[in-house]
Amino acid sequence: MYGGDVFVFRVFIKSEKLTEMYAIAIDVGSTYVRCGLINLKGEITYSFKMPSRDVLSEGEIIALINAAVRKCADVTESKILGVGIGFPGIVEHNVILGGADNLPGFSNVDLGALIAASTGLNVIVDNDANMMAWGEMQFGAGRNCSDAVFLTVGTGIGGSAVINNRLYGGYRNKGMEFGHIIINFDGPPCSCGGRGCFEAYASIKALIRDYAQRTGQDISGLNGRVITRSYLAGEAAAVEVMERHLDYMAIGITSLINIFSPQKLIIGGGVSGADGFYVQEINRRVAERVMADAFSSSVIVPARMGNEACLMGCASRVFSTPMLLQSNGSN
Ligand SMILES: [Zn+2]
Repeated sequence: MYGGDVFVFRVFIKSEKLTEMYAIAIDVGSTYVRCGLINLKGEITYSFKMPSRDVLSEGEIIALINAAVRKCADVTESKILGVGIGFPGIVEHNVILGGADNLPGFSNVDLGALIAASTGLNVIVDNDANMMAWGEMQFGAGRNCSDAVFLTVGTGIGGSAVINNRLYGGYRNKGMEFGHIIINFDGPPCSCGGRGCFEAYASIKALIRDYAQRTGQDISGLNGRVITRSYLAGEAAAVEVMERHLDYMAIGITSLINIFSPQKLIIGGGVSGADGFYVQEINRRVAERVMADAFSSSVIVPARMGNEACLMGCASRVFSTPMLLQSNGSN
């Protein structure tokens, strides 16, 4: 049921008249709620973001989503086919089961039903990394691929996999926790409560922590871009921690390629888009260790869609859901 049907979506947009239809896409994050009105050609015709950092309760986040849907709906007279929502945490059949660590509440919340009831629109909710992956698959670095693995590297490491044109989430969508591949049982503590996970070694948070420890600087003034700049300038501490970060990235990615043998392994977030060196250096390290057959049809590439990936994935999921096509088939 994940991912809808790419073929249906592409056939559907052949009718010019239908480009007057829209999806509302909502990307719920712990800093911003991003929103967009997207037509069937995949054009974002209207977008805005609302700060969510100071939102303190589950009810306030739901109110923010409702307000965002209304604001998008108010700018068009055209038909809105539905609302797609990307939400952090574990999502099964539009229900937030839990795991949204940075947002309050949301344990077994039927977000899809709540937003559908208040807006009168069809609603699809999925994990934000899944929506982002689907956006890259439809419009970005994963176009024309049937099999791809996505990694987002930031405070943590998230990911998802598209297998044979479908998002695969494991039973009840609880799997694909690529950030929590354990590299070392006795390693540093991880956000999941365990130790030694890929994320605990290779996230940008870990890179910043290592650099701060190495240089005695306060982490508040540091980010991935600052360290990358120092690395490219040849600063010894930055070179040391970045080399280590690249090694850790390669360890996780080598395992993912050995398991999935994806056509594309797409890296988003972090410093992946900042400079060509990042993907190149990871690729070089992976090539030394990976199983040759698994890697023979794989390419490691940076994500292309940036912040828009999740919105585009949300819209695409709305457009490619057979139920919605049927209910609007007479138009
Ligand atoms: Zn972990």
